[in-house]
This record gives sequence, structure tokens and C-alpha cells, in this order.
Amino acid sequence: MPIKCVSPDYVMKLYIETFGCQMNVLDSQLVEGSLARDGYTKVSTPDEADLILYNTCSVRDRAEEKVRSRLGRIRGLKESRPDLVIGILGCMAQRESGKLLSAWPHVDLVCGTRELHRVPELVREIQESRRPAKATDIRADFVFDTMPRPGVDGPLAYVSVMRGCDNVCSFCVVPRTRGRENSKPLQAVVDELKGLIDQGVKEVMLLGQNINSYGKGLPGEPDLADLLAALDPIPGLERIRFVTSNPWDMTEKLFRAMEELPTVCEYLHFPFQSGSDRILESMRRDYTANDYLRLVDRARALVPTIELATDIIVGYPGEDDEDFEATVRMVREVEFLQAYIFKYSVRPGTTAVRLGDPVPIPTKKSRNRILLEIQDEITLRKRKEKVGQTEQVLVEGPSKKVPEIFSGRTRQNHLAVFPPDGTVPGDLVDVLVADCTPRVLRGEVCSR
Ligand code: SF4
Repeated sequence: MPIKCVSPDYVMKLYIETFGCQMNVLDSQLVEGSLARDGYTKVSTPDEADLILYNTCSVRDRAEEKVRSRLGRIRGLKESRPDLVIGILGCMAQRESGKLLSAWPHVDLVCGTRELHRVPELVREIQESRRPAKATDIRADFVFDTMPRPGVDGPLAYVSVMRGCDNVCSFCVVPRTRGRENSKPLQAVVDELKGLIDQGVKEVMLLGQNINSYGKGLPGEPDLADLLAALDPIPGLERIRFVTSNPWDMTEKLFRAMEELPTVCEYLHFPFQSGSDRILESMRRDYTANDYLRLVDRARALVPTIELATDIIVGYPGEDDEDFEATVRMVREVEFLQAYIFKYSVRPGTTAVRLGDPVPIPTKKSRNRILLEIQDEITLRKRKEKVGQTEQVLVEGPSKKVPEIFSGRTRQNHLAVFPPDGTVPGDLVDVLVADCTPRVLRGEVCSR
């Protein structure tokens, strides 16, 4: 037991803040669950905490900057409370490792992405020895099943089915911060889902940095389509979504599974990053713009109601007006429901770092703005096409902005808002769409 627990009724308090992707959100939940076994309870401010953890992201410098400013802000807390334990977890911890302990002397713990299951033991060690601890072995196999999930709240849950990435996209830190791919055994995923459904979950989002490679290295090498087919018949499971796919591992088998399996939603997050073959080659993305368009055509032929989302980088080194125009053409041609558009950010440890950052910030900003405007037009038009239609929606609960109104998502991932009308989170209802905004569909529950 931690030293401070000399009075048996004292409850240790954990403050954990998460930066970055859904995988980090899930990792924080798993760390929270394993610390709860050690008697920790979660608090909402660092001032109240005995243990402060930041689960960090390295995908862009801005994400790391936020953590640095947090660390600066809590320095005083440590001076006034030397027993306080401060830890940095996740991708920035993995990338910077021991350098963080020397740069921030008030930090006690640095734990990377593959050793999160060791956080409780490392915190105990720090409390007993009063010495900092570091665990950043990138080759460690991620121990999937030893981290208990805290109870789920609501009908949605994230489930990580694989971690790491064996690809080498030049701009990406993921292979460096998450390591090599390793997949969770298929039966373990099935069992985890059954446990979640027993707790009231209706929809799961399967997570993997490179989810199309699911199964590599597992006995019999089941692929993502096999996994979906194993999950689909689980009683009580209403919907499955999955992220993130890449074009070069995409298969017709997966498209057919999306069409044939009733629980698999017709929504695909499918990053293309750039419409220029010259830039795609420099990014070490193993496809051309035409390859990507052919895959989109196959997806739409095999899954007629599919909606697509994507990731795009603007201002990648060497991107000129012609390259950017190629990206604009792709956005206009494919007509995504959503596009996540990022300004290129140099990442240490990536192969693109040697290319510098030659595209001026004003150019990156204007290209970002141009694409956002085009995409907003497309998204609004797609939402307008839903007006007068009835859409199946999974009720998530009070909407973030207007709590007396409920929200939920359609199978194609449109966000819908509607008066609750006696529905509860987890209900599958039909919503008649009355109108829309660029962000949401608005309607009424018409049947359940
Ligand atoms: S496939 Fe995705 S996660 Fe893997 S290196 Fe490329 S961008 Fe990064």
C-alpha cells in the first residue's frame, strides 16, 4: 500500500488528463482501472490529487506543447507537497523517455505506450524509494488483458484490437512511439465485448493504428473481416465501427464484410493524406491517387450506403500549388462526409525530419482554410440530403451543448439531435430528419 495510507480510511486520489487519440482515451481508462485496484479514486483537479498523470500525444508539436505548459503550471504543487507523484505516460513519454526526467525534475514517472500495465507497481516503487522511475521499452509486448477496465458509462465503448504499426510513413511518429504491430487474440476480443455488453454497451469502436493489419502474427492469421464476422453474432451487440484503415491493406473481403454483417456500420475512416502522387511517394504512402480512387469506387460499389471520412496533411515539405490542387481535386471528387485536415508538423524521429519545414505557415493556413471551406460545403450538402429521411440512431444521451436535447449517431456517423421523447441511452430509434446544420441533423423520434 502507498506510504501515505497510514490512516486506513484515507483514499488516494488520482488526477489523469488525456491528450490525443481514442487509443489514448482507452489507455487512460485502463490505467485508471488498474490504479482503482490499488485504492485510487479519480478527482477532477490536480490540486486535490496525490497522483497526477498526463497521458500524452506526439502526433504534432502542439500536443506536446500543451503538456509542457501543464508541467510548468504544477511545479509549485510539488514544492508545497513533496509526497505528490507526477507522471508522464504515452507517446511523448515513449519518444522523449529519460530526457523528460532531466528536463522536469519535479516529474517522478515516465512510462511509455507498451508498459502502461506497470503504472501501479511503478507508483508504489516511487512512493517507497522516493526516486523517479522510467519504463519505456518499445519492444515490450503490450500486455493486453491484465488491465481491468473501469465500469463503462453509456452504450459506447472503445476496444483496442491491435497496437503499433509496421509501416513507415515519413511524417508519422506512431511506429516510433507505439512500436511494432501486435494484435489481441480474436477470442480475447470476443470475450471482452461480451463483458462490455453485459454492462450495457451496444456499440463498440474497434481501435488500431493500422487496423487493416489486424491478425498478423496470430495463429491462423485471422484478418479484420474475420474478426468482424466473429463479433457480429454476439447477442446484444447492435453496432461495430473501426479505425484507422490505410489504403494499401484494404481488401474487397473487408468491404463485403461491411455490407453483409448487420452490426458493421457503413462508415469508413480512410486517410489519403495527399492527392499528389509526388507527395504520396515522399510520404512513403504505398499507393497513388488513382489507386485510392479505385478503392473508393469498389467501396461504394460493394457498400452502396457507405460514408467516408479521411485525414489530409497540407504543407508537407515540397508541396507546391500543383500538389495542393491535386488534393483539392481528390476532396471534390470523393466527397467525404468528414475530413480531418492538419497542417504539417515536423516530428523528431521521423524520416521526413531531414526535409525540414519549407512551406511557410501562411501558406499552410490558407491551404487548410481552403480545404475546410470546400469540405464544409460537401458535408452540409450531404446533411441536407438527409432532410425528410428517417435515420436509425443509437441514443447516446444528453447532447453536450444542450443537455435537455438528446444526441446519437446514424450508422453512417452523422450526429443527430432530437427531443428525448422518453428514450434512454442505448435505445435504437428511428429519427425523422427535419433539418440540419453543418454539424448535425435535427429531428424527432418517429419509432423505436
Ligand atoms: S500507417 Fe498510419 S500509423 Fe502507420 S506509419 Fe502510416 S500514418 Fe503512421
